[in-house]
Amino acid sequence: MLNPRSTKRQMVRICHLLAEKDYVSAMDGNVSCRLPDGRFLATPTMVHKGFVAEEDLIVVGADGKKVEGPDDRNPTSEIFMHLAVYERRPDVHAVVHAHPPTAVAFTLAGETLARCVLPEVVLTLGQIPTAPYRTAGSHELAHVVGELITGYDAILLERHGAICAGRDLVDAFGKMEKVEHTAIITHKARMLGRVQELQCAEVDRLRQMGARYSSRGTPAPACEGCDGCPTGIPWQKEPDFTVLRATGTARAAGTTTATQTAAAKHGIEQIVTEEIVRALSGRLSPY
Ligand SMILES: [Zn+2]
Repeated sequence: MLNPRSTKRQMVRICHLLAEKDYVSAMDGNVSCRLPDGRFLATPTMVHKGFVAEEDLIVVGADGKKVEGPDDRNPTSEIFMHLAVYERRPDVHAVVHAHPPTAVAFTLAGETLARCVLPEVVLTLGQIPTAPYRTAGSHELAHVVGELITGYDAILLERHGAICAGRDLVDAFGKMEKVEHTAIITHKARMLGRVQELQCAEVDRLRQMGARYSSRGTPAPACEGCDGCPTGIPWQKEPDFTVLRATGTARAAGTTTATQTAAAKHGIEQIVTEEIVRALSGRLSPY
């Protein structure tokens, strides 16, 4: 049974952490949790998460309208994205939405985080898919989030942020940390060299183990890019996700192919550059 007082305190603490950890800037992000009476405690719109206080929090109904809270505080338009999660996932009791910078940078570059590379991510989140771009706060964005959340607990939102669902506030916040941490590690690894996926058998083993810990109770859909995926691209039956599928499939062509192509291209570029420099230096030489 949720204690309203301690739930508010925890929500405020998580908002402050989102700001301290640089997962949001200015008024970005929002946090909510399911109350025992079927309503939802939520952060209001236009509040800096680093300064939000318990008295700023509002209660909204299943339609997203404010039913409790200060007169000068109103629901965020992004509440519909939260409600889409609660509607599809009865096991979810808290939702955290933020704009973690490295993870968002991946979406700007058209790079996926849905790869079987980190064992703890495969175990706990399965994969981190990217929802195709939709306007922030729109019902279209709530729709794509609602579709993907049935299979995943953490979703990247193209050019926007990430949304994470948990059994409670700390669980949802921890998943947000995991998303940004995965993006940071993947970025660093790519700067060092080629990033290889986990072995297929290990991916499958981790997915089965993960099903036991997940409140979803089923193994996470498999990754876009590795051979460990018995089901292939998980959203291939979703006609709405052609943009996502196109991006994912391009990535799913494989790290090896992409890396080899890049390496080959780089090699050719280097040869051409050297030839041009040699030719120019010959032409410009007074001798
Ligand atoms: Zn947002």
